[in-house]
Amino acid sequence: MEGNTHIVGGITAALAFAHYSNDNPLILVGAGAIGALLPDICHKGSKIGRTFPMLSKFVNTLFGHRSFTHSLLFLLLMMLVLHTFIPYRAISVGIIIGMASHILLDMCTKKGVKLFFPASIAVRFPLTTKTGSKVENVVLMLLVICSLYFSYQLIVEFIASA
Ligand SMILES: [Zn+2]
Repeated sequence: MEGNTHIVGGITAALAFAHYSNDNPLILVGAGAIGALLPDICHKGSKIGRTFPMLSKFVNTLFGHRSFTHSLLFLLLMMLVLHTFIPYRAISVGIIIGMASHILLDMCTKKGVKLFFPASIAVRFPLTTKTGSKVENVVLMLLVICSLYFSYQLIVEFIASA
């Protein structure tokens, strides 16, 4: 999936989570959008890969595309790192949610992800699409609609509680 789809996916997931948590929704959403870009550090053409080309090349050479950084192992390690170094829960939780949304979205592509890295099996959903395809545009549109709906819900709740 493309960077924009991932950003909106991270925002949508964070907004959905905000509905059930007491964390600051704006921070959750910001962190969710950033987290949604992190796994693609393994790909030099991605938004984050272009921002950190050296790191991206290093990760790609070491692990290849959509392997370690798209795995449960990486998610778990990031949880530990964030929990240890970032004292603010909404940031760490938001980043993890964004990363998880990224992995789920990439599981909708034919290539899938190496979810159980170091095991090399590619994991994907039964229905898949190609990155940059028309279907991806439809997915992006649905995610935008969902995030608008979740934002609306949060605003209504905020007004009701004020
Ligand atoms: Zn990816």
